[in-house]
Amino acid sequence: MTSCIFCKIANGDLPSEKVYEDEHVFAFMDITPVTKGHLLVIPKNHYENVYDLPADEASHLFSVVPKLAQALKETFQQEGMKGLNVLQNNGAEAGQSVFHFHMHLIPRYDKQEDGFQPGWEPQIETLTHDKIAAFAERVRQLTETK
Ligand SMILES: [Zn+2]
Repeated sequence: MTSCIFCKIANGDLPSEKVYEDEHVFAFMDITPVTKGHLLVIPKNHYENVYDLPADEASHLFSVVPKLAQALKETFQQEGMKGLNVLQNNGAEAGQSVFHFHMHLIPRYDKQEDGFQPGWEPQIETLTHDKIAAFAERVRQLTETK
């Protein structure tokens, strides 16, 4: 897609701090990092989000993640890296700002220092076990037919 910033990065029309590239996948430093070492991993082909991503592309893309995660760990553990979040947002409401599928690899440090505080509060009052079981049944049926 010619107007997509991540397509331009993947095909070299825009500069990036590349850390990995193969035939299908491109990984580079986020230019608006939330922590030291914040990486983005993208398919070279343009897919807007996870709903559009073919299974074989998803499979290959994620197969690269452990290698990148290990490299981040080895690079940043001496600087205090204690963990790693792998995040992926779909849709503006979910925080997606570039509409080319991308996965965030976000090294985590001490909570006071790393400037990134994802979190959630379980809705155990309203989402009861009966509701969870009903959701599971609906999703299971659709998963089995795909
Ligand atoms: Zn794109």
